Amino acid sequence: MKFVDYSFDAGLMEAIDSMGYETLTPIQEAVLGPILEGRDIIGCAQTGTGKTAAYLIPLINQIATNPTNTTSAIIIVPTRELAMQIDQQVAGLGYFVSVSSKAVYGGGDAVEYDTHRKALMTNSDIIVATPGKLMMHLNMGHFSSEGLRCLVLDEADRMLDMGFIEDIQKIISFLPEERQTLMFSATMPPKIREFAKKILKDPLELNFAVSKPSESVLQAAYLVNNENKIQLVSHLLEGKEMKSVLIFASTKQAVKNIAHELKRVLNSVEEIHSDLDQQARENVLLRFRNQQTRILVATDVLARGIDIDTIELVINYDVPHDPEDYVHRVGRTARAEREGVALTFINKERKEQNAFKQIEIMLEGDVYKISLPKELGEAPEYNPSNSPTRRSTHPRNKGAKSNGSARPVTKKRDSKPRK
Ligand code: AMP
Repeated sequence: MKFVDYSFDAGLMEAIDSMGYETLTPIQEAVLGPILEGRDIIGCAQTGTGKTAAYLIPLINQIATNPTNTTSAIIIVPTRELAMQIDQQVAGLGYFVSVSSKAVYGGGDAVEYDTHRKALMTNSDIIVATPGKLMMHLNMGHFSSEGLRCLVLDEADRMLDMGFIEDIQKIISFLPEERQTLMFSATMPPKIREFAKKILKDPLELNFAVSKPSESVLQAAYLVNNENKIQLVSHLLEGKEMKSVLIFASTKQAVKNIAHELKRVLNSVEEIHSDLDQQARENVLLRFRNQQTRILVATDVLARGIDIDTIELVINYDVPHDPEDYVHRVGRTARAEREGVALTFINKERKEQNAFKQIEIMLEGDVYKISLPKELGEAPEYNPSNSPTRRSTHPRNKGAKSNGSARPVTKKRDSKPRK
């Protein structure tokens, strides 16, 4: 599903486009509709799933299409860093609509305190706050929750671990009973469930936990231009002992092309994709399982059924579109207590590099980049950025090339969200 399939406010659509978001992530696909309908949600989701935009987009749409003079939403988060990050996302997504937000977090000096107090008293549309600081301002009467429509608790498990539960309960006692509550947590321990029962009404329960690859997979990446990839595979496999190697590509056409090229330089290469009938696929898999075929080139979808314990090496010939596909691909090796290696080829395209950065965010660490052997050409630089270069006017696009216009052309769309 794509964002253009929704009839969001035109300014919000413009911002979504400027952020480079096109297709919804699975969590966004699952929660956008229910949030727009006003349902409470309890979602098990980690960073990297797109959960922030999943709740910010409907919130901003609601504010843009139905503005008020009061604060519409409070987002409570465990740390100032997260508060700042979310505040920046609100600034990005709310850039072309007049949605104001303020981050209110711990620490800070008297000037900051006063800024926070004013932000609360002047009713920014969205307040992103850490629990302690928000509690303090509420106690001092700096904020009236009249008109509040939505409460979001992000990283609820961390807030619980950090001992914020009482503060949150107190904050909730200041808020209107009639409100929408959205709760996101990376894990769902019983304490979180109990807490959720108390504060959510008939919530929709969703699980988007992205499992990480097993520790026994050694993960690394090569920065390599498309024209040098076949040579790199050949360099990695020629004369090596490895008996089972699985190579992934995103489309069946790519799988066919890669297999075709590889067959010129290596023996024992087969392909599997949806153009093969069921029997042909089963035969290919059987030969791969029996190690009659050494190298199998596959699409993501077809590889879902591959459960072969002896795969020693997985090569991501291109970067998978989302972190979940990466985990799935990489998980084809190092099965049944064995060790395995997963190598990802990253080309120079910004889209690939950004997709790999998302994977690193999900992995909570950088993947080691192996230097490309000199004879395999120039290696592109790894320079990911989530900001597309098309626009210069959007805050996410600072430093991007200007197209000369002060404001991008706004595409007209219906202002009402589709139910
Ligand atoms: P989060 O899980 O909210 O921390 O988001 C992780 C990253 O995904 C952030 O850098 C977002 O900007 C990015 N992101 C969120 N939604 C999308 C989308 N639909 N398409 C591309 N990137 C996205």
